[in-house]
Amino acid sequence: MIQERINEVKALLPKDVTLIVVTKNHGIEEIWEAYNAGIRDFGENRVQELMSKVNELPQDIRWHLIGSLQRNKVKYITPFIHSIQSVDSLALYEEIARRARLAHRQIDFLLELHIAQETSKAGLPLIEVEPLIKTIMEREKDAPYMRLRGLMTMATNTNNEEEVRGEFRKAKELFDYLRMGIMAHRPEFDTLSMGMSDDWNWAVEEGSNMVRIGSYIMGARSY
Ligand SMILES: *Cc1c(COP(=O)(O)O)cnc(C)c1O
Repeated sequence: MIQERINEVKALLPKDVTLIVVTKNHGIEEIWEAYNAGIRDFGENRVQELMSKVNELPQDIRWHLIGSLQRNKVKYITPFIHSIQSVDSLALYEEIARRARLAHRQIDFLLELHIAQETSKAGLPLIEVEPLIKTIMEREKDAPYMRLRGLMTMATNTNNEEEVRGEFRKAKELFDYLRMGIMAHRPEFDTLSMGMSDDWNWAVEEGSNMVRIGSYIMGARSY
């Protein structure tokens, strides 16, 4: 079942769109199924759960942290994490930078935007993104291991297609604005991570090049 869903999604995704399979609340055996179907990019949203899985699984997996991250937990993941997609403050950036230096590892990160209606969702308001990037650039020489790859966002949880597409479009506009502006000399700023089980096809049509799909592939989560 997992393998079939992966094949189905892969067949529909344009080649330049990266698929991250989100495995939160799913066990090691199910993750192996996805791994054996060729997936190497996996997403988890909680540090503790991620830590309980990492050593049980192959080392060539690229782990992406997609949920909100407390500063005091950064140190647990810096030895192995591939990307952190939920950076939403200077303080969090600085702690990751400090730990990346200690671990001698390059860590990719995305800034998380808050676009959705729900106030419970995390992320930066759009107007704060460019100022934060400027501050990060000023401190960059002290953080040689950090690589800003792009933006991540979640749309409102609604089946109102126009609303969801409109939110994705806003994220794409900001992404393009930054790419043509302050990030113009940074070809590595190339990732727009948006789209989940219920909205990934809209996200891709609106310009996403990284989707994070959990339940559609892995099955319903048992909370
Ligand atoms: C859980 C989660 C996903 C995947 O959600 P599904 O609806 O199960 O596909 C994607 N992104 C983030 C940030 C998540 O927390």
